[in-house]
Order: sequence, then structure tokens, then C-alpha cells
Amino acid sequence: MPQAQIIDGKEIANSVRDDITHRAAQLLEATGKRPGLAVVLVGEDPASQVYVRNKDRAAEACGFHSVKHTLAADTSEADVLALVSQLNEDEEIHGILVQLPLPGHIDESKVLRLIRPEKDVDGFHPVNVGLLTAGERASALVPCTPAGSLVLLKRTLGDTLSGLNAVVVGRSNIVGKPMASLLLQESCTVTIAHSRTKDLPAIVKAADIVVAAVGRPEMVKGDWIKPGATVIDVGINRIPAPEKGEGKTRLVGDVAFDQAVDHVGAITPVPGGVGPMTIAMLMANTLTAARRLMNLPEDQ
Ligand code: NDP
Repeated sequence: MPQAQIIDGKEIANSVRDDITHRAAQLLEATGKRPGLAVVLVGEDPASQVYVRNKDRAAEACGFHSVKHTLAADTSEADVLALVSQLNEDEEIHGILVQLPLPGHIDESKVLRLIRPEKDVDGFHPVNVGLLTAGERASALVPCTPAGSLVLLKRTLGDTLSGLNAVVVGRSNIVGKPMASLLLQESCTVTIAHSRTKDLPAIVKAADIVVAAVGRPEMVKGDWIKPGATVIDVGINRIPAPEKGEGKTRLVGDVAFDQAVDHVGAITPVPGGVGPMTIAMLMANTLTAARRLMNLPEDQ
């Protein structure tokens, strides 16, 4: 069996970002306005700091107006809510992203629900969740990781996924559930698996498309996957890598890549697969939000 096509998420993300940069420049020329993204970070979680820095840099590289709000870990819930309210009103800001997780004393859902749905570029507000679930994707803002995963699938398999069997392993609100909604809208036959699923290997085996979003290193074994299937590995897991030296680590996905790569049709690597697409889709959502808030058609 030939080796799988390795889906180059970095390259595809770069092409999406180039397109957004071009469209943002056109918007600036036509209206004098830039898409504006505000990212809010509460506390000093090192991983969150890296994510926020990357998002801020990406927004600047796309020619956006980018604002970063870094608040101390002990900032009160009331102050975070006040900042979100202020950003809701700010005409230069079209996208608001509150980096999760928030410190324990802040009610995450209260903060996310306060974000104006039109500016909710993470797509976590119940209004956007509802629109996506109701099949009204055209007026929703869709969570970035599943939206990016769908772009990777379409660039690999073509625009029509209709009739394919898809299995999504994981049912989180951030990845699994919206991914399943998107695939259902593409007319896939969708199975959502989770920690209580019986005989997961048999369920995975029936799938033409496998999306793994579990958060368990290399849990989906190569021989579970049907030959020729397309695999999107959302998982990002850091594991010890003694071969690189004492105390060193490396990133792996939720799929045992080395076992799968010799018989699946196509597979995303970790890193360099879904990860870069998440940020690219955040930029896409911000541009979409900006055009909608300016009452401009979206597809230009
Ligand atoms: P969650 O922890 O919120 O959800 C994990 C899901 O996996 C749950 O639905 C859980 O089931 C299910 N699960 C856990 N163990 C098993 C098992 N043994 N068999 C089957 N299902 C299982 O994680 P997220 O969805 O937030 O993230 C998943 C992964 O994706 C993580 O590695 C995360 O780092 C990565 N990620 C990557 C992003 C990117 O940009 N590439 C962005 C977001 C996440 P149950 O509901 O029953 O508990």
C-alpha cells in the first residue's frame, strides 16, 4: 500500500491567510477601515500567552487592527465583563476573543455569553452554536478548529463530501460537536464517539473520514482505520521524548501516525496539520465579522 498523502496544514493555512490579507487590503482601500480583533488574556498561563501572542501577530500580519488586553490573574469577574461590554461597543473592534481557560473565580459561560454574537469570532456564543446546529452556517460564526478541519478535508477530497461516513471521536463544545454539525451539513453520515462509546475500533473502521479530537496521545490505532480513509488529527499532546535527550518532549496527535500513514489515504501531521488552520480561521472569522458589521457582502 502506498504511503498516505500528508495534508500540509501549514501550507494551506498560509494560502488562506494570504487570501485574507489581500481581502483586508481591499476592504481598507474601499472603506478606510481595517478588520479589528481584540484578544483578552486573564492570568499568566504560559500556553495561553503563546496562543494569544500568535493570534495577535497573525492579525497584524493580515493587516488587521489588533488589540491585546492582558489582565492580572486576580482581575475580578466584574472587570472582565466590563471590558467585554466596552469591546462590544467599540466600533473599531469586529472580533472579540477571550482566551480560555479563565481563572477559576470567573464564570466562563457568563463572559462568553456577554460577547456580542456578531463579534464572537470563537463561535462559542449560544446564538452561534444554535445557528450552526440549525444549518444556518451562512449567518453564524463557526468555531475555528472545526472550520479549519473542514477546509483541510475539502482541499484533500474536493468540495463534495456528500454520502461519506464520518466519525468524530470527541464531543466537546469546542471541537467535536461543531465538527459533527459541519460534516452533517456537508451531507456526511456522521457518528460522534466519546469516552462511553462501545467498540470504538469497529466504529472508526467504518469511516471514510476520521476526525480525532480526544486529547489522548496516539489513542486511535492505525489498524482501527479503514485503508484509504482521510484522517484529521486535532489532538495536540506533549509526551516525553528521551531519544531527544533527558527531559525533552515532543508533540503527538490523538492518532498513531506511524501506524496509520502506510495505509490511510491522507492524514494531517501533528504538529503542522490542524493547528495552523485554527489561527487562519480566526482571521477568516474576523474578516467575516467585520464585513457583516459594515453591511458589506461577505464573499469579497
Ligand atoms: P475535551 O477534553 O474537551 O474533549 C475530549 C473528548 O474526547 C470528550 O468528548 C471525551 O469524551 C472524549 N474522550 C476521552 N477519552 C476518550 C476515549 N478513551 N475514547 C473515546 N473518546 C474519549 O478536549 P477538546 O475537544 O478541547 O480537545 C481535544 C484535543 O484537541 C486536545 O488534544 C486538544 O489539545 C486539541 N485541540 C487542538 C486544537 C488545534 O488548534 N489543533 C484546538 C482545540 C483543541 P466524554 O465527553 O465522554 O468525556
